[in-house]
Amino acid sequence: MNKWATRIAQTLAERTTLDAYRRRRSMQSLPNNQLVVEGCRYLNFAANDYLGLSHSLPLIAAWQEGAALYGVGSGGSGLVTGYQAPLENLEAKLADWLGYERAIVYPSGFSVNQAVIKALIDKDDWIIADKLSHASLLEAAMLAKGTLKRFVHNDVSALIQQLDKAHEHEAASLVITEGVFSMDGDEAPLKDMATVAEVTPDCLWMVDDAHGIGVNGREGRGTCDAQGVKPDLLIVTFGKAFGLNGAALLCSDAMAEYFTQVSRPLIYSTAISPAHAHALSKAVDLIRKMDAERAHLQALIAHFKKEMAALGIENASNSPIQPVIIGSNEASLRVSDALKSRNIWATAIRPPTVPPNSARIRITLNAAHSFEQVDQLIEAMHHALSR
Ligand SMILES: *Cc1c(COP(=O)(O)O)cnc(C)c1O
Repeated sequence: MNKWATRIAQTLAERTTLDAYRRRRSMQSLPNNQLVVEGCRYLNFAANDYLGLSHSLPLIAAWQEGAALYGVGSGGSGLVTGYQAPLENLEAKLADWLGYERAIVYPSGFSVNQAVIKALIDKDDWIIADKLSHASLLEAAMLAKGTLKRFVHNDVSALIQQLDKAHEHEAASLVITEGVFSMDGDEAPLKDMATVAEVTPDCLWMVDDAHGIGVNGREGRGTCDAQGVKPDLLIVTFGKAFGLNGAALLCSDAMAEYFTQVSRPLIYSTAISPAHAHALSKAVDLIRKMDAERAHLQALIAHFKKEMAALGIENASNSPIQPVIIGSNEASLRVSDALKSRNIWATAIRPPTVPPNSARIRITLNAAHSFEQVDQLIEAMHHALSR
């Protein structure tokens, strides 16, 4: 075998031995949280569709209307032909809703995180990121020219220590955290972090609120709004509560102009489809008015937590992300299989996505779930965990 074939074969063999082999399955998601996987129908507790908007009829209609009015392709990057009326409207709507001077839409959360970190960080700068930050943030930080320091999850004193060290090195710093953490569902102490970041000279701070936008805060403005803070850079994504896909950076006017000059993923990537932008604007309008759905979701979360506590399983998350920590990869796969045998679809998440020995079932609840469906999940959990 040549070097490439050997490397590929070794990686695949390693993954198999570790029970960490990943595969994509062919799936179809249907309304009412139904998921068809390889011919079998399941109740879906794995999607990040927190408000149940992925099958929303008004959103589907908005996408169709956008396609009819503006077409399905933007024809180029925003600097060529891509910055069309629906995208311009969407950016204005996002900036207004979230209280920033500007919003810039990117094709995905992964790409906006790469873009922001790459465009800002120079070789003498420090990136100070929560240890449990999403792969899109940590990968960008590792590839950036500056120094990456990771602080203990949600530990503000550990953050302060790193900021002091950055100061000793006369480095400008970029602090990175998330509103709601994707694998644990807990919130960052944004208020305390804001206090620290705002008094530190040459410090910018950035919050990725992929899992909080739409769910937390007044009119779904997210975790920063709920905690009463405004980071220099706010990332929101449209693949979770929006029920669509894409992402945006919220920032000052000067910062937006800077990104327009230097951000290659913005300059050299085709802007999202006008039909998609039109649907995203509709999603903002819907989300702002979904207080009843948010209240229903919170009631489901409280119910699930109470019933799980009765089974001896507690966690700190009050978000729709409810991790059930199992430990070994093998045991977590067994639990997820037992759930599947009761037609419940919930994903086993294994290292390296989560720390070693913390393999888990990641349950996600959404506003389109009913209490009956959550009770079905709890019953199946009971069965799966007692084996
Ligand atoms: C999902 C997620 C992303 C990636 O967003 P996409 O739009 O799916 O690429 C980024 N950050 C966090 C915290 C996420 O959970």
